[in-house]
Amino acid sequence: MIYLKNYLTFLVIITLTLYSCKKDVEIIEEKDEGLKTENVIIIIIDGPRYAETWGDNSHENIPYLAKTIKLKGIVNTNFFNNGFTYTLPGHLALSTGRYYPIDNFGGELPPFPSIYQYYKQTYPDKNCWIISSKDKIELLSNTSESDYNNKYLANTDCGINGLGSGYREDSITTYNTINILTNEHPSLVLINLKDPDTWGHANNWEKYIESIKKSDEYINEIVSLIDTNPYYKDKTTLFITNDHGRHEDAYGGFQNHGDNCEGCRHIMFFGYGPDFKKNSTIDTRYELVDIANTTAKLLNFNLPNSNGIVMEELFEKNN
Ligand SMILES: [Zn+2]
Ligand SMILES: [Zn+2]
Repeated sequence: MIYLKNYLTFLVIITLTLYSCKKDVEIIEEKDEGLKTENVIIIIIDGPRYAETWGDNSHENIPYLAKTIKLKGIVNTNFFNNGFTYTLPGHLALSTGRYYPIDNFGGELPPFPSIYQYYKQTYPDKNCWIISSKDKIELLSNTSESDYNNKYLANTDCGINGLGSGYREDSITTYNTINILTNEHPSLVLINLKDPDTWGHANNWEKYIESIKKSDEYINEIVSLIDTNPYYKDKTTLFITNDHGRHEDAYGGFQNHGDNCEGCRHIMFFGYGPDFKKNSTIDTRYELVDIANTTAKLLNFNLPNSNGIVMEELFEKNN
């Protein structure tokens, strides 16, 4: 009898052990595909032309990006805004995976939720921030869609003092970005630097070029923080892109933007992080909405109703 009891106990232990081993394997497989990214930071330089960034072979306006930061990641020379080439529609496209002609003057909430809301819904304890020189970018933290309206909101630091307060200088946005990353540890961040667009509209070529060079310096400051702060180092993916370009010279020149010309559509793309190829250049045709899907994959949350795709060619494993 004692022998039988011991034998039964033995069977129970073996069964439990086998079951728990199987469960462990399943959990590991479910968790991710071995991705190392825990944070995603997206920097938008508002409105420089590709011809003045990566499209200029001298790269004289983006020396930090082209000489040192490039070694860490991957440039795409064939990246486009295929929707509405204005500020809010451009930011909306990369934040939702959808092209939609949202009012560019800030009079309308996005009709569908963004990656920021889906991320906060999935990971309520994580911090998510929208930090922007242009106050109107704050609208992207919310949506008019009833299931998500006023829910899962990102923190915002936009314009002089929030929506309706006006634009502020990129130097302040960079300073605030450094403080927020250092003290709040957000895991998903959108940053807008506005000056190239502002000086373009002012038809001031010198200031327009100078502000692209300044953006490059600000990005270098943010990259230095990411590469040294223990919360971000080796577990953060950074995207650097534009919301739109500006007209080619044959379509009105650098002062304005907003149509389908190559100058307005063709924008810069650079990405780096622990899951991406290093010191690489690709020419796979991707577009703004694909940033939303790639972010959702990297941070492991669902992004329903997006029209974008995951930019698989960026990933190291596809080498
Ligand atoms: Zn503009
Ligand atoms: Zn144009």
